[in-house]
Amino acid sequence: MTDKAPLGILSAIPEELRHLEDREEGSEEIAGLIFHRGRIEGRSAVFVETGIGKVNAALTATILAQRFSCRALMFGGVAGGIDTRLGIGDVVVATKLVQHDYGALVDGRIEAYQPGIAPLPGVDRSPGYFMDATLEAKLRAALAGIELPPLAASVTGEDARKAELHFGTIVSGDTFVNCGMTRQRLESEFAALAVEMEGAAVAQVAQRFALPWVVVRCLSDLAGIDSHLNFPAFLPVAAKAAAAVVRRAVQVM
Ligand code: SAH
Repeated sequence: MTDKAPLGILSAIPEELRHLEDREEGSEEIAGLIFHRGRIEGRSAVFVETGIGKVNAALTATILAQRFSCRALMFGGVAGGIDTRLGIGDVVVATKLVQHDYGALVDGRIEAYQPGIAPLPGVDRSPGYFMDATLEAKLRAALAGIELPPLAASVTGEDARKAELHFGTIVSGDTFVNCGMTRQRLESEFAALAVEMEGAAVAQVAQRFALPWVVVRCLSDLAGIDSHLNFPAFLPVAAKAAAAVVRRAVQVM
């Protein structure tokens, strides 16, 4: 293919980016972030570790768009599982991203709405960024039948199972979810498959720059009472699986 502007490849933490980056063409530091130029699956790319959270992700996405003129933003990493049908090791490709902690606090509960939309009568402020339908179709075709690494019983603590790939809603917020009650709420309010801390911020910035975004997350934990234990235990294997899916997605970008 003729190489165009680079792809922006983002992860929050080094364990995630390790499986994606190939820093062969120099690096540049901006705002304490290190942007490495290189290639992924033959395409030119800029790789960067955003740090954890929505503001870090938004800052980094902005620099990728503005300074490096990236033609798409692709995030690979791990997440907590929300939908109870999913298990550790399953991979979710976001078709919709929602900032679950943006909105109004009403009667002790957050009523989520779209960042930046004024809560005025008659204004649709239902939250979410949606993946472009053409891109979604392309990714579904490219990822159909992808073999994810099998999960040993020693990984899941249950029966050995085959990891699955899902497309659906991922919610993002500035808290590590380590709470069964919150997990249930995020499932019933958003029909979310997974929760993480960066994706919907990347989507918000990408939308501003009219760039396509892809967010791929492999479940490192199930966002409940054990998530703080599962996260470090399964981070390495989950980060690797997410990267494998990102690499396959890159091939159609
Ligand atoms: N416990 C870690 C914090 C990691 S934050 C520490 O001690 O530093 C978790 C990272 O993985 C974030 O970048 C987020 O996007 C993702 N993530 C994985 N599981 C998550 C969960 N249960 N809730 C929110 N984010 C999660």
